[in-house]
Amino acid sequence: MRDHDALAVEDFKPTFLAKSSMARKAADAAIGATQRALIEMGRKHGRDVRLVHPAHTTTECAPCGARTKHALPLSERTYTCTACGTSRPRDKNSAHVMLVRAGLNPAGADRVRPDSPQDRQAA
Ligand SMILES: [Zn+2]
Repeated sequence: MRDHDALAVEDFKPTFLAKSSMARKAADAAIGATQRALIEMGRKHGRDVRLVHPAHTTTECAPCGARTKHALPLSERTYTCTACGTSRPRDKNSAHVMLVRAGLNPAGADRVRPDSPQDRQAA
């Protein structure tokens, strides 16, 4: 947290991970608590915390925004875009997609504040 000016948090709804309503409530509560803790930590440190809709983060190409027709099987660790040919580890691609959705510049997310003038020019 101290190393990052901004943080994108998945607005995660574990609908398919917890089938029973009790398990789902427990999972929702745990994730809600985690989100609240992250948001609270972010505020304390003066950070910019944004909730991001997680849908399709694993099937969207971060550089060009194209979306694959099929979700990658979990065993497939590399995302390859059929539109622009980008090939990268899927976790990195998903993280990049989330940063873009949060309105952050992924290349400068570690160093540039999202409300800085440079960032606005780049957007
Ligand atoms: Zn692409």
